[in-house]
Amino acid sequence: MYETLYRNILLPMFDGTIKGRQTMKHWQRAEATQWHSRSELELQQLVDLRRLVAHAAAHSLYYKNLLLEHAIDPATISSFDDFRRVPLLHRETIARNRLQLSTSLPMKRISKSTGGSSGEPLHFEISAESNDRRVAMTYRGYGWAHAGPGTRQLYIWGTPPSRLAAWKRWKMSLHHAFDHHLVLSCFEFTPEMMHRQLRRMNAWRPQVIVAYTNAAYEFARFIESEGLQVWQPKSIVVGAEKLHDFQRIVLERVFKAPVFETYGSREFMLIGAECEQHSGLHLSMENLFVEILDDEGQPTPAGEEGNVVITDLFNDAMPFIRYVNGDRAIAGFENCPCGRGLPLLRKVTGRQLDVLTTPDGRKIPGEFFPHLIKDYRSIRRFQVIQNDPHEIIVRMVTSGGLTLADLHHLENDLREGIGPIVTLKLEQVDDIPLTRAGKLKVVVNNLQTSQTSGRLPEHSDLAAGSDDQPAAQGALVCQH
Ligand SMILES: [Zn+2]
Repeated sequence: MYETLYRNILLPMFDGTIKGRQTMKHWQRAEATQWHSRSELELQQLVDLRRLVAHAAAHSLYYKNLLLEHAIDPATISSFDDFRRVPLLHRETIARNRLQLSTSLPMKRISKSTGGSSGEPLHFEISAESNDRRVAMTYRGYGWAHAGPGTRQLYIWGTPPSRLAAWKRWKMSLHHAFDHHLVLSCFEFTPEMMHRQLRRMNAWRPQVIVAYTNAAYEFARFIESEGLQVWQPKSIVVGAEKLHDFQRIVLERVFKAPVFETYGSREFMLIGAECEQHSGLHLSMENLFVEILDDEGQPTPAGEEGNVVITDLFNDAMPFIRYVNGDRAIAGFENCPCGRGLPLLRKVTGRQLDVLTTPDGRKIPGEFFPHLIKDYRSIRRFQVIQNDPHEIIVRMVTSGGLTLADLHHLENDLREGIGPIVTLKLEQVDDIPLTRAGKLKVVVNNLQTSQTSGRLPEHSDLAAGSDDQPAAQGALVCQH
């Protein structure tokens, strides 16, 4: 009932009439274009890419010089290969050339920032017009997971309420009530608090749970281990952090509902989302051009892992053309059995930071650790840290502690992956703090330049930041 009222009256009235946004128009169009053929969609992408490069050449000093330097005439871009002549854009380049990257045209702009692993935030701008398109993509992508605008949703999300001023908290709770969202903070998911959060959730009876992956997983394991009763939603949408297959299994078992993975970032909002087939993430391709490239910048062969590179087709305020976002994914954009023309991103495998290196030349993928540690039931939260090539530290928060036998067993298991050379330190701690955005950094490599070809291993958030996605769900987008 509220959903119908919200979608047909409240949202169009607030978003279009009061705020003058184009979100509804873009959403309506996106609902139709998702069924267009892939070739038709690609053709449109090419037209939009050409327009974007021409716009950047004309109005951004950075791009004007760059394109001149590489003798690229936007008018001659007639294929994706032509477009690939535009050099890649790295995070540090944006930080150094922010003013030159911004276009000179007057337009409504929104300032954004995203935190990096080094704690150095990236500040950038998007046009208000491109924000409307992003929100439309989120409406559509979340809609596949039964989480369209106006549905009753429970958010397990990142921003600690105490960081906001009282009036802002009040404004946000008003937004959440309007949007039909109950928001629980990740920071309140300690074992002591989880009983209370579960009661709130059971009382709210959400149609959908939208959550940070690790928080939802910890919550599910808690519910299961305590043998508690839990409300059964229609679906669970996870994002912001990588989803492992074993986490999906636990979430679906505990909540008895299908899990829909999403992939997004502060820079682009929703990049991809699963449809009901769960066969990969449909790209928001009307808005974004996504490439998977090897370390030399060439397209990665299908089935292999590469660097995620994204172009926003419509951010005319500060063009992000071929931006290397620091994430890794498997190449090969397949079609989905659902019939949508939007190609599938097979799998987001993680970020560059998730790889640890050892002096004997081993590269240990971050996936190694959660897969191994998940079998130790008493380890509630953990973090792997490498500050020194010769040492790997594993910090663990346990319920009831680990026995000597467990520790011995764990050390042997870890040793198989990390090899004989490095020192392994196992530390049992009381708490592992979340990042400011409420995420858990599972693997932290502080050896910044050793494995990224000179590129700083800073990252966009794996999915939308603490405020992007929930805000995007409602008409009252709250900008920070
Ligand atoms: Zn599909």
